[in-house]
Amino acid sequence: MASVVVRNGTVVGPRSVAVADVLVVDGVIAAVGEHLEAPRDSREIDATGCWVGPGLVDLHTHLREPGRESAETIESGSRAAAVGGFTAVIAMPNTEPAIDNVALATYVLDQGSRALVDVAVAGAITHGRLGERLAPMGELAALGVRLFTDDGTGVQDAAVMRRALCYARPLGVRLAQHCEDGHLAGEGSMNEGALSSRLGLIGRPAAAEEIMVARDIELVRLTDSPLHFLHLSTARSLAMVGAARDEGLPITAEVAPHHFTLDESACANYDAHFKVNPPLRSSTDAAAVRASLTNGLADAVATDHAPHTAELKDLPFDEAPAGMLGLEHAASLTLEALGASQADPIRFFALLSRNPARIAQLRREDAPVRHSAHGGSVVAGEDANLVVFDPAERWAVRAERLQSLAANTPYHGRELVGRVRWTIVRGSLVVADGALA
Ligand SMILES: [Zn+2]
Repeated sequence: MASVVVRNGTVVGPRSVAVADVLVVDGVIAAVGEHLEAPRDSREIDATGCWVGPGLVDLHTHLREPGRESAETIESGSRAAAVGGFTAVIAMPNTEPAIDNVALATYVLDQGSRALVDVAVAGAITHGRLGERLAPMGELAALGVRLFTDDGTGVQDAAVMRRALCYARPLGVRLAQHCEDGHLAGEGSMNEGALSSRLGLIGRPAAAEEIMVARDIELVRLTDSPLHFLHLSTARSLAMVGAARDEGLPITAEVAPHHFTLDESACANYDAHFKVNPPLRSSTDAAAVRASLTNGLADAVATDHAPHTAELKDLPFDEAPAGMLGLEHAASLTLEALGASQADPIRFFALLSRNPARIAQLRREDAPVRHSAHGGSVVAGEDANLVVFDPAERWAVRAERLQSLAANTPYHGRELVGRVRWTIVRGSLVVADGALA
């Protein structure tokens, strides 16, 4: 395997940054330092002005395979991930059928092993994501599955959720909850409030999310089993997480870029590209989600990348499926929310790489079963999963230029700052100079 030397970038560590060269040989970081000597056939990358950090890790990617390959495949989704600076993604199990058994999880892992980035898989908590009988979590854990979720819906029955938490703890795995009380959320297609009334759309109240967050915090107290909250969208949810964590409960939380860059007002034109679950909330909630990036309430930014075909997204607002693309603009939107040129690179990589890798157990010290290590320090000996990100480059989102098979981005035409220049997966350049290699 050819070697790569990344010259003169700002290398972002967990606690400090320093301008240095990074030499990659045979898939591993061989050296980090000033004016490194590289083998003669090395590929030279000029990273002047760029951040060099661990490859990004997405805790929440809908790859749609098996079942809805017209919207996305493992292969196309991994291309979108690479362009977005991700070196590993966690494939969500709400496929058709759901990933609730070893055969299907193995299928996704095998397909993923041929993809451009590392693909880990989350298993369903219950059979068919129906919220009734537990999936074979022990067998899936033995395969290397470390996250379990019925994402798309929350586990509605508290007794089932309690039992799942009890099973998870001794297996060393973590449950991840999509917090929505199904009865209260009902058939709502946007946030419940004055705007939904005016638009004549049924709303999903913030309380539908908050009730499940509150319930699950109590279940974590009861079981002492770790729990991850997916895509929290309200100020109240985040405040409850902060209070629970202050008590020492093992709770982690992610937020999604659309919840800190957009609010419910985007739904005013009945454009279904802005329909997502949990829905875009009030401007107050959006501000609280944005603040969670810097005040420590959010551990991670996760994309909730949810591809849908144009055919479905062109349906009327209340009939169209919920979800939007995320992988290719998450890094830029996070940079913008962290203050663009004022953004702290250490926080950026904590939110997008180090913390998600820890939650998904993809770091070297967690001994990943089938994957290379992600989210580590940029030091000699680590697996070479790296991203070179230019925090000053400006670009505009064009739906038709995205690598995803689908085009349902709510950001079409939006000007962004910060762009992935190079993505290195296991020592190979998969994105070079901003384009797939
Ligand atoms: Zn979800």
